[in-house]
Amino acid sequence: MFKYDPKSLTADEFINHGEILETLKYADENKDNMDLINGILEKAKPQKTEKGTICRGLTHREASVLLACEDPEVEEKVFRLAGEIKDAFYGNRIVMFAPLYLSNYCVNGCVYCPYHRGNGGIVRKKLTQDEVRAEVVALQDMGHKRLAIEAGEDPVNNPIEYILDCIKTIYSIKHKNGAIRRVNVNIAATTVENYRKLKEAGIGTYILFQETYHKESYERLHPAGPKHNYHYHTEAMDRAMEGGIDDVGLGVLFGLELYRYEFAGLLMHAEHLEAVHGVGPHTISVPRIKRAEGIDPSAFDNGISDDVFAKICALIRVAVPYTGMIISTRESQAVREKVLPLGVSQISGASRTSVGGYTEEERPTDTEQFDVSDQRTLDEVVRWLMENGHIPSFCTACYREGRTGDRFMALCKSGQILNCCPPNALMTLKEFLCDYASEETRRVGEAMIARELEKIPNEKVRNICRGNIEKIGAGERDFRF
Ligand code: SAM
Repeated sequence: MFKYDPKSLTADEFINHGEILETLKYADENKDNMDLINGILEKAKPQKTEKGTICRGLTHREASVLLACEDPEVEEKVFRLAGEIKDAFYGNRIVMFAPLYLSNYCVNGCVYCPYHRGNGGIVRKKLTQDEVRAEVVALQDMGHKRLAIEAGEDPVNNPIEYILDCIKTIYSIKHKNGAIRRVNVNIAATTVENYRKLKEAGIGTYILFQETYHKESYERLHPAGPKHNYHYHTEAMDRAMEGGIDDVGLGVLFGLELYRYEFAGLLMHAEHLEAVHGVGPHTISVPRIKRAEGIDPSAFDNGISDDVFAKICALIRVAVPYTGMIISTRESQAVREKVLPLGVSQISGASRTSVGGYTEEERPTDTEQFDVSDQRTLDEVVRWLMENGHIPSFCTACYREGRTGDRFMALCKSGQILNCCPPNALMTLKEFLCDYASEETRRVGEAMIARELEKIPNEKVRNICRGNIEKIGAGERDFRF
């Protein structure tokens, strides 16, 4: 029997099955305990202190009680709180990114993923460096500045050297006014040595979804290949941090296991990173299983409704207030609209999940990883965000200024991030409007910039920002706070 210990480096101890079961039991027993629930809500509220506004977050047990509680009034309070916390720490900016699929060769057997090695119905493809270049030019021409690279696990076809070559190529391309200024990496769990190489290559966040925290299900859903090893996968973030990567992104693939189990596991993972490394996850992603070649989402019993999905998003924001939250184009426009005000900080736009998809006129499906629900162009997504009161941001400043890991968290916790995020969002939005936007988007965007500039509280920052925006209009690029 394993004992729960958030500081342990053994997966069975920091994601402890017994502790999760106890948590779910505790949550069931207390889901109508209004005294306890009100106390938890009170604890989660942003508090004004001498050092500024702070948030204490919630433990996995506390957050699990709120998730179990079915009272509509409590739910309403959670939603409101999530929005307040998002506004207090990130303002109304939403960071934009796109995934770039490098290769769908894979030796794993993940039963929910069309890239699994037994799938003969999918075309296998790996980008050459020339093809990477063409994809990046296409992405730059849309206006993207931040990518998440994706690849299947295949030591022969996609060794770490291939990934490193791709990163180098991506950073080297300066097409017209375009540049990819931050490359995040979503590749299979690897060694400390390889994480060190990724760090040296200048990556932003290392992203790895746990898929499921339920060990038995994990092993069943990953029947073959290196990914079958639950420990190696679950302990990957500790190795990444040992390799010097201090921004890591967690995620669960919702639909595989019971969501309450996953939710508790996810928060325990965040608590573990904080306890061991002194810094929690930089981001949390909340993907849900989608239809794909040979994959039918209804074959998985644990799909969650849009309402439960929204509640999970809101509770993640409340429980880990300083962690970014990512929603991909797996979700439709309607669902994205519903969860954006609940604390989402990053979304992808105009994504293609096929290898080489950005250079094709028509959206290709033969190498696709999953169906994309939100198929709008980046220009449309940007305009829609602004029409809904969010500032689309192409900012990559924190990472380029060395504000990663605990330095980023300190900036966030002190509230100082509000002197960086909104101005950086406005300046990078201005670049987008000048270089890539349609006339209509430009019109909406210029009005937003004029409005939002006035809201920057610090006069000096406001004036510098205004001056930089004028310079961008005159052709200069790449300003940042
Ligand atoms: N191959 C890498 C790994 O093993 O971690 C990561 C890259 S994979 C392209 C990115 C993520 O897509 C996976 O971690 C999984 O959660 C998600 N995914 C796989 N199949 C999916 C499906 N049918 N619908 C939605 N998301 C899926």
